[in-house]
Amino acid sequence: MDYVTGLRCRECARPYPAEALHVCDYCFGPLEVAYDYEALRSSVTREQIAAGPQTIWRYAPLLPVTDPEPIDLGTGWTPLVRADRLAAELGLGELWIKNDTANPTGSFKDRVVSVALTKARQLGFKVAACASTGNLANSVAAHAARAGMVSVVFIPSDLEVAKVVTTAVYGGHVVAVEGTYDDVNRLCAELTSELPSWAFVNVNVRTYYAEGSKTLAFEVAEQLGWQAPDHVIVPVGSGSQLTKVAKGFAELHAVGLLDDEPHVRVSGAQAQGCSPVATAFAEGTDAIRPVKPHTIAKSLAIGNPADGWYALETVRKSGGSFAAVTDDEILDGIRLLARTEGIFAETAGGVTIATLAKLAAQGVVRRDERVVAYVTGHGLKTVEALVDSAGPTATIAPTLDAFHEAVAIDATVEGGRP
Ligand SMILES: *Cc1c(COP(=O)(O)O)cnc(C)c1O
Ligand SMILES: [Zn+2]
Repeated sequence: MDYVTGLRCRECARPYPAEALHVCDYCFGPLEVAYDYEALRSSVTREQIAAGPQTIWRYAPLLPVTDPEPIDLGTGWTPLVRADRLAAELGLGELWIKNDTANPTGSFKDRVVSVALTKARQLGFKVAACASTGNLANSVAAHAARAGMVSVVFIPSDLEVAKVVTTAVYGGHVVAVEGTYDDVNRLCAELTSELPSWAFVNVNVRTYYAEGSKTLAFEVAEQLGWQAPDHVIVPVGSGSQLTKVAKGFAELHAVGLLDDEPHVRVSGAQAQGCSPVATAFAEGTDAIRPVKPHTIAKSLAIGNPADGWYALETVRKSGGSFAAVTDDEILDGIRLLARTEGIFAETAGGVTIATLAKLAAQGVVRRDERVVAYVTGHGLKTVEALVDSAGPTATIAPTLDAFHEAVAIDATVEGGRP
């Protein structure tokens, strides 16, 4: 059963068919997928979802493509972990980590790619392409391999080694562009008009791609026993993920899966070296000034974010906030999460945790709130960020004496740290 009624312009509400369209011909606004919420309300139940696969596809009726065999590596239904030790350090109450490092290619991008490429295949595309800050390329290459599609991914040439290796291994084409993500994205926009038979997941099929991020909200609500949290912290690159997390909670209520109308405060996390949206929030303006990124959080290094304005509006309307954190704070955030909860995040996860810490210290994230922080990528992807600060405690000769001389472990101290 297909509940999609078509596409609709987010600005002027003009309707379009559910094809590979992403901008309104009339006002150039972005297009969004429209669903028949009434039909969904009378047919989708919690029990049905619970009986579905332990992947994002358990929410298939709320996704923009109907396919009994989606292109799937086992994405989603990632752990929602209660984080009491981290909460205690930050002076918070009920804190949860949505651990999206557990996805097949180690980032939340598997959610958007699984949806985008399943729809692209249905629309007849044979080539899977994207403009990427790293994780998207990784995920597109993997899903294309699984589906037997040709992949051509475009990345900035200064990416982390792990992100290049884990993309190239799938055997597709990896094009490293001498420039920033924004240069890569502009090139891909030009290529989209030249090569209409290629599915650029975040350009001409972006409308479908974006919908995959709603599952970040669906899963959290279901994992909390069909309740919405009070406050979520979401990292912001293009801003798509943040807007769709908010849309996800609203949709659950619209189709009757959440009893009470959710009031989720949504706060955005950015790196100071690339914080165009956080800056606009702080200055109280609507104008998002593009920047040239300079940060270790390369997966968020988008200087001219496509959905920046929508992310800003979503945060403001929800009563949330923004913070921008320095590279040192990002590294502290990675280490704090690792040593308190045993979860190793990439630099984007460090941005989320450092933002959470900052907003908690400011009293914006409150102790009486049920808080969820989205940790969206695995630490092994950005290991070089930590090589100077995370090495052996000691390097010793293989003797008892050498050990006792070099290392004093006090097991009465929590974590056994000296
Ligand atoms: C892409 C990415 C984001 C940001 O998502 P947007 O939709 O571009 O805002 C966050 N975290 C990780 C790990 C990413 O790869
Ligand atoms: Zn329009």
